[in-house]
Amino acid sequence: MSELHKFLFEGLPVRGMLVRLTDSWREVLRRREKAGDAFPAPVRHLIGEMAAAGTLMQANIKFNGALVLQIFGDGPVKLAVAEVQPDLAFRVTAKVVGEVPADARLEAMLNVHRKGRCAITLDPKDKLPGQQPYQGVVPLHGDRGEPLQHVSEVLEHYMLQSEQLDTKLILAADDEVAAGLLIQRLPVQGEANLAGRRNEDDIGLSEAYNRISHLAATLTREELLRLDADTVLHRLFWEEQLLRFEPATGADGPRFACTCSRERVGSMLKSLGREEIDGIVVEQGRVEIACDFCGTKYHFDVVDVGELFTAAHRQTPAPGGVH
Ligand SMILES: [Zn+2]
Repeated sequence: MSELHKFLFEGLPVRGMLVRLTDSWREVLRRREKAGDAFPAPVRHLIGEMAAAGTLMQANIKFNGALVLQIFGDGPVKLAVAEVQPDLAFRVTAKVVGEVPADARLEAMLNVHRKGRCAITLDPKDKLPGQQPYQGVVPLHGDRGEPLQHVSEVLEHYMLQSEQLDTKLILAADDEVAAGLLIQRLPVQGEANLAGRRNEDDIGLSEAYNRISHLAATLTREELLRLDADTVLHRLFWEEQLLRFEPATGADGPRFACTCSRERVGSMLKSLGREEIDGIVVEQGRVEIACDFCGTKYHFDVVDVGELFTAAHRQTPAPGGVH
């Protein structure tokens, strides 16, 4: 079953998390395959890594709203998306518009002309009127302009920029498992006040993060995918004092779920306008929309379309109510 493990390093300002998406990840791939629309392998593994990363980031910030990772590409992949809800329900998809080479990494998929961007959006659940979601955008290249080849590097940059927190992120995905390990340096209490006169203790604490993140970096992709959480954590950190929390799994853990509904598809159709929709119905007999995330198909025939737009009509103010 898919699982999320949280842990602390006793006495040190460092925390960590490990996620393994197994059944939930295979469900995503199975649905796509069933719809006859499987993604090329490099795209599958990219969105698997994004699902793992999104889960780690959502669990890390405990934000009451959706966390959305989007990579806008300028190559054969136009868009890759992972969305994670506060209860760790996730969904992912991609829009592939060209031939993806079998060995393609981030640059060849999404950053061919250096125009690729990664947007991280926090969309609050109970928005106040006029409140906009928070969004941070980072490029797909490093400080020296070098193209980044792994989504983990892009997100490490984002976290350093937005949260000012050193973060080590290791991600891997194949067709069975999507997994990730996050190690983060916690802000030391009162650190801002101590700026400029850091003592030996501070330096020691910073060394602790460096040591632990170096240990984490020795984890290979293969180990992250094949070994269970206990084995990974023991192998990496057997010399450290780890405080582990009860893993989140099952209904409380990471799992696949889609937020699409007939109602939402209906309002999307309404926004396109009656003329456009009537045109499709005349041409094809009905409107068929398949959800990009879960593959569910929604049909609207001539009667449904009529109802859709009449219902909209009823919501307009009654005569006399206009000022
Ligand atoms: Zn859906």
